[in-house]
Amino acid sequence: MKRLAVLGHPVAHSRSPAMQEAALDAVGLGGEWSYEAIDVDPGDFEARVRAMPGEGFVGANVTVPHKGAALSVADVLSETAREIGAANALSFEAGEIRADNTDAPGFLEALPGPVAGRRALVLGAGGAGRAIVWALAREGAEVEVWNRTELRAAHLCEELGGRSVTDPDPAAYELLVNTTAVGLRGEDPFAELPLRAADLAPSQTVVDMVYGAEPTRLLAAAEAAGATTVDGIELLVRQGARSFRIWTGREAPLDAMRSAARV
Ligand code: NAP
Repeated sequence: MKRLAVLGHPVAHSRSPAMQEAALDAVGLGGEWSYEAIDVDPGDFEARVRAMPGEGFVGANVTVPHKGAALSVADVLSETAREIGAANALSFEAGEIRADNTDAPGFLEALPGPVAGRRALVLGAGGAGRAIVWALAREGAEVEVWNRTELRAAHLCEELGGRSVTDPDPAAYELLVNTTAVGLRGEDPFAELPLRAADLAPSQTVVDMVYGAEPTRLLAAAEAAGATTVDGIELLVRQGARSFRIWTGREAPLDAMRSAARV
C-alpha cells in the first residue's frame, strides 16, 4: 500500500482525505494507495515527517500551522515553494524529501482567465496571502495588498511584489481576493474588510479562500451583484489536483474531487 496523508493541527475538519480518496478510486488506484489525516503537534512535525518514508508514505499535504516547517525539513525545494517561503505538498522519493507549493498555481488555474495587466486587490497578508500575491505578481497583474496589520502587508510586498494599500477603493479592481480568515466563523466581511456590497459588479471576479458548508457572505453578495466567483473549495480542489499529479503521475479527476470535497 502506498500511503499519503495531510498533516495539520487541528486536521480533523480537513476535506482532503475524502477528496483524495475519491480521486484515487476514480483513477483505479483505490486498492493500492490510501490517504489519511494525521494531527501533528508543531513540536513533533520534523520527527513525524522523517519517520514517514519508513512507514510506507510517498507523500503528504501540509496545512496550518506547518507550511513553513515543511520547507525547513525538505532536502529539495521547488522554485515556487522557495520563493513563497511555504510548502503544502511533500514527496518522499529515493531517500529525499521534496517540498512543493501547489496553492499558488492551483489558484491561477481556478481563475476564469489570464491576470496579466489586471488590477487585483488581495485582502490579507498571512500564509495564504503570500502564495496569492506571489502568483499574481509573477503573472503580471497589478497587485495591491491590504491587511488589518498594515506593516505585515508592507513587508510581504517588499519581499514578493505588489504595493501595500491602507484605504483601497474596492470598485477600482477587476479581481478581489479574500485571503484573510474573515468569514470562517461567520464574521461580516463588509464590517471587517475594506469592501462594500454595493461596489461589487458584474465586471469583477471575487475569490474567497474561506470555505464552509454554505457559500460565504462575501461570495453570496458577489454572486447577487453578478460578479464571477471562485470559492475556497475550488481552490482546495485545484491545489489537491496538482499534489495528486506530483505523487501519482496521473491526471487528477477534478469532478470526482469536487463532488467529494463539497459533501
Ligand atoms: P494566517 O497566516 O493565520 O493569516 C490570517 C490572515 O487573516 C491575516 O492576514 C490576518 O490579519 C487576517 N485576519 C484574521 N482575522 C481578521 C479580522 N477579523 N479582520 C481582518 N483580518 C483578519 O492564515 P492563512 O493560512 O493565511 O489562512 C487564511 C484563510 O485562508 C483561512 O480561512 C484558511 O482556511 C484559508 N485557506 C484556504 C485555502 C484553500 O485551499 N481554500 C488554503 C489556505 C488557506 P492580521 O495580519 O492583521 O492578523
